[in-house]
Formats: sequence, C-alpha cells, structure tokens
Amino acid sequence: MFLTVTTTGTPEHPATDLGFLLHKHPGKAQAFSTSFGTAHVLYPEAEEQRCTAALLLEVDAVALVRRGKGKGRGGAPDAALAQYVNDRPYAASSLLAVALSNVFSSAMRGVCKARPERADRPLPLRVEIPALPARGGPDLVRRLFEPLGWAVDVESVPLDTAFPEWGDSRYVRLVLESETLTLANALRHLYVLLPVLDDAKHYWVAPDEVDKLMRAGGAWLYYHPEVKLITSRYLSRRWSLTREAMDRLELIRLAETDDSEVEEIDNAVEAEAEQEPKPTPLAVHRREAILTALRDHAAARVLDLGCGEGHLVRELLKEPRFTEIVGVDVSVRALTIASRRLKLDRMGERQAARVRLFQGSLAYTDKRLKGYDAAVLSEVIEHLDLPRLPALEYAVFGSARPRTVVVTTPNVEYNVRWETLPAGHVRHRDHRFEWTREEFRTWAGTVAERHGYDVEFRPVGPDDPEVGPPTQLALFTLKTTTGTPTTTATATATEKEAKAA
Ligand code: SAH
Repeated sequence: MFLTVTTTGTPEHPATDLGFLLHKHPGKAQAFSTSFGTAHVLYPEAEEQRCTAALLLEVDAVALVRRGKGKGRGGAPDAALAQYVNDRPYAASSLLAVALSNVFSSAMRGVCKARPERADRPLPLRVEIPALPARGGPDLVRRLFEPLGWAVDVESVPLDTAFPEWGDSRYVRLVLESETLTLANALRHLYVLLPVLDDAKHYWVAPDEVDKLMRAGGAWLYYHPEVKLITSRYLSRRWSLTREAMDRLELIRLAETDDSEVEEIDNAVEAEAEQEPKPTPLAVHRREAILTALRDHAAARVLDLGCGEGHLVRELLKEPRFTEIVGVDVSVRALTIASRRLKLDRMGERQAARVRLFQGSLAYTDKRLKGYDAAVLSEVIEHLDLPRLPALEYAVFGSARPRTVVVTTPNVEYNVRWETLPAGHVRHRDHRFEWTREEFRTWAGTVAERHGYDVEFRPVGPDDPEVGPPTQLALFTLKTTTGTPTTTATATATEKEAKAA
C-alpha cells in the first residue's frame, strides 16, 4: 500500500525542498521499521520543477496479528481479524496513517530547521493514493476533503475490470490537489481522514487516541461540516471518547474565537492614565507577582497552565532557577504564536531542553501534569464556564497536585476605577465571570480545604483602599502533614463532581 506526495517548484523555490520539509533526503531510499511492518520512503522523481515522495508500507501480517491479540479488549474475533489482515497489504489505510506519523512526525508538526519559512507557507501539492478503502464511497471522500481546501478527483475501483457487472469494490483511487495548504496541514488531514474512511481502524482504541486526534485535528476539525462523523469514526464509535473529543474541540473553538484580544483591557490599563513617567502595565505587575511567589517557594519545575501566547514562559526562561518550564493551553493558535515568539526552533539546545509547550485541556485530568513543583493559572479560571470549574479544580489540585499553585484572576470590584469600561461589563468578552475579593476567597478557601492546601492572598497592582487591587492572587501550598482532608473519600467525591460537570 502506498501514497505519493508531489510538489512543483521554480529555480528560486526548487521542488526538491520537499526533501527538507519531509526531513528525508531525495537522494536515497530509506526504510523504517514500525510495529506492523516496514515503511519505505523514496523519490520516484526529484527535479527542480517537480518532486515526488512516495511512502510505501510493507505490512508484516504476523506482527499485526500478534499486536491485535495482545492489546485491546480481550482480543479480536478471528474471522474479522483475518479479513483485516488480508486486506492490509494492498490498501492504504489506518496503518498507512500511522506510518505517516511515525516517518514524517517533524513534518506533521510543521518543524523544518533547514527551510523554516517554507514550512509555514502553502505550496502546490498533489497527493495520490491508488487504493484506498473508503466506506461511504467517492461521495464521502469528497465531503471529507473538499471543505479543507482540496480539489478531489476520486473514482471507485471495480471489483474486477474483466467483469464490470460485478460492481465496485470498497476501494477508491484518490487524487487530491491544493495550492493553499501547508505540508503539515496536508499530512494532518491524511493522518486523520485515512482511518476515518477505512473505518476498520483498530481493535485497540487507546485512551490517548483523543490526544492524537487533537494534535492532528485541533486546528481544523472544529470547522469541518463533518466533524461529528470524523470524530466518531476516528474513535471507533466509542461514545465516551467521542464526547470527550467533541467537548475539547468546542473548547478549542471558543478559545480561538476569543483569545485574539486576550487581556487587552487589562494590559492597557494604567497606561491610559497618561501618567509620567509611563506606568507599568498590569500584565507586567502580574508576572512579577507570580515570579516572586514561585521564588518564595523555591519552585524549579513549573507548569504554566493556560499559558496563552507564552509571555510568562519567556520570563521564566530568563531565570536559570526554573529548570523545567511547561506551557499548556487548549488553543493551538495560542501555542503556535507562543512557539514562534519564543523562537523555540532556533533556541540553543540547553535552553530548548528547559521548555516544552503542549496542547491540553484543563477540564480533564492529564498525567503529563503530574510531578511538578508548581503550577500557575494566570488569568485562566475566569475563561471557564462555572459548571466546568470543579473539573479544573480536580485536574490541578486533585490529580496534578503540585506543591505550589498560583492563581490570578480579575477583582471585579476594581472595574469601577476604569473609565473606559462600561458599568457592569467584564474586562474581556470571553470572561465567563469576574469575582469580588470575597467570592475569590470563598472559592480558594473551599478548594484549599478540599484538597489539603494552605492558601494566602496577595494584591497585584495598586491596592485601592476602597475597591482593592485590579488583580487578585491566591498562593496555595500543599500541606505536608499527614492526615490532611485529602482522604480517598474526598478525592472520589470531587472526581464524581468533576465528571458530573
Ligand atoms: N496565562 C496567560 C493567558 C491568559 S488568557 C496570561 O496570563 O496572559 C486565558 C488562556 O487560557 C487562553 O490562552 C485560553 O486558550 C486558555 N484556556 C481557556 N480555557 C482553557 C482550558 N479549558 N484548558 C486550557 N487552557 C484554557
């Protein structure tokens, strides 16, 4: 089974740059072993005007059977498995998608050190797959690829050309063309949609399938008119996973439509008072207060949860005491901007080893968040709908459970001091709520008690005698004594609450 990717070029931008973008040299054929066979990458043509890379997968049926039996839900029914295996060697399918992500993982992430400017830009692309199993036929193939910017040429493959009256097989021949996509996005489309069309994906649906789907589809899937079908088929119609994925896509969509002017008002405040000398923006005060809290608690390995475009991550990087910095956000767009701003791809190796960004939602527990000294939630909680807040609480205080947690949020009482803010308005249109000092203290106190933390409060920005500071900060410290209220019973109750939300 195989697919080819072709691009065209000019003397200025030779087509052979495809080799750099794919991180595979056009001059040599290469082989990679995967858990179910060998993947070959070769270039049938590599000229300045036109270059084609082929990915060819040689399936090892024995390895596949072993794998199918070993994992999953108590082994697959033999007849079905036999058909599955028989089918594999010929057709492009979910296995090809897996090989694609193994062999072209950097290209899929859009990383290209040699030609960074080309990785970000659309290029003329032609993808050809001679035999693709497609449940739903040519019609569904068009419905899946056309909304993503592909011109689709698809036809059914007859069961047997000698006997047209036998009708069509379940395979199609597919040619996709586009001038508007980056290579990374093109690969992500294939990675998600090939198994969706195959619809025979795994006998083993791992819990991290949702993460994989978010990584590959997070930036385009929620716009897709067939988002439901894609999500459900990709996750082999496992209802709970599908629902989780749909929820996470909805969060991404919300975050992306709203984060374009994140904290704009906050950051502009004080500057508008036109004082001399120019006052420090609130965002700077806030980062300083957070850094102070982290230094006070000798935190070295720090999570920035809801890191947005990475301003705090940049400040943390400046101080060697912070040895490991992880930025997490639900918005792929914010993370892309963050990684560009931080110049992650051009950073020295030692510096780069200290920092990591990944996509994730705080409304779900995530084992990648365990084991850190501190977590920061800077201006994040107010972006969640109140009914979701218990889920975040559990994910951070119950599951990730760092020694120190710093939470900042607007103090709504201070809003009257802002002339540009119409009465009764929140500071940002994505804020689902803004709290008084009393409300924040009540929430923080309850969370601390439930999960076995102590909490203290610090003002950020000018502390107005009447209405308090513009930003409020809560500093949580895990109680070290044993016999804290974090009994199993409490944790279970909280987990239930989180699930209910
Ligand atoms: N911490 C940054 C950004 C705050 S804006 C700062 O202080 O400037 C809020 C950020 O939270 C946005 O980037 C948004 O994408 C992110 N966010 C909102 N809901 C989230 C969720 N459920 N999981 C993870 N991040 C979320």
